Amino acid sequence: WEKLELKRNNKDEISEMQQAYNAMIDRIEENRQKQERFVSDASHELRTPISVIRSYAELLQRRGKDKPEIFDEATDAILSESDRMQHLTEQMLILAKNEDQENVLFEQVNISQIVRDVIRSLSTAYQREIKFYHETEQDITISADRSKMHQALYILVDNACKYSEDTVIVRMQDIQDQLAIDVIDKGEGLSEAEQQHIFDRFYRVDKARSRKAGGTGLGLAICHGIVQLHGGKVHIESQMNQGSTFTITLPK
Ligand code: ADP
Repeated sequence: WEKLELKRNNKDEISEMQQAYNAMIDRIEENRQKQERFVSDASHELRTPISVIRSYAELLQRRGKDKPEIFDEATDAILSESDRMQHLTEQMLILAKNEDQENVLFEQVNISQIVRDVIRSLSTAYQREIKFYHETEQDITISADRSKMHQALYILVDNACKYSEDTVIVRMQDIQDQLAIDVIDKGEGLSEAEQQHIFDRFYRVDKARSRKAGGTGLGLAICHGIVQLHGGKVHIESQMNQGSTFTITLPK
């Protein structure tokens, strides 16, 4: 904040101040609307698992004693919906924490190694081939928050595996003073219109498919927030039924 000292009758200064003030009011209003939407979307997302849990608990209460065969189905559903709620609340917390610059712990990290770690755990989890083209001679070290960076890359590679069947490729390039990491899949791809919303909180192209795969629609919003905290950008290039390339660019 800077104190404004106005000279009397200086019209330029007054109009400049008015513009700055109005821009600030617009930003506050935009943030207020964003928060309001987040709270309403979050409650909507939590309502589904809560109502599933409730109806199975009621079923158990009403019929559980006479019909023990419903026991397994009901407890399975209750457990998986509670897991889902737990995952959702954890992700919402991560998203909120990432808004705050103070929660970032910058240190020198070997980003090439982080990518290898992500690839190792996801290729094991999905039993899939994930190729890594490291197009620089040596490993790259940047100033970053290790666990957040790991998380951002994990989200992109995890999505590439989740939304495609074939080999996933990760490519790391050194472009002048920038580092570019591409995550490439040959999966279902996204239309122009879908690409516009892909980083919005809770946005999912196919809710049922995402839900089945344990998705919350928060992954890309978290990834975007983390990359922004590092002064970088994440963008997508995609074509329907051809695949997608998500690129993170970071200052070195
Ligand atoms: P989710 O938890 O649902 O995966 P994300 O925020 O990570 O949430 O992604 C939002 C939506 O974007 C997904 O539900 C999916 O529809 C779409 N999406 C993300 N990554 C890809 C990809 N690599 N290919 C196709 N669609 C994708």
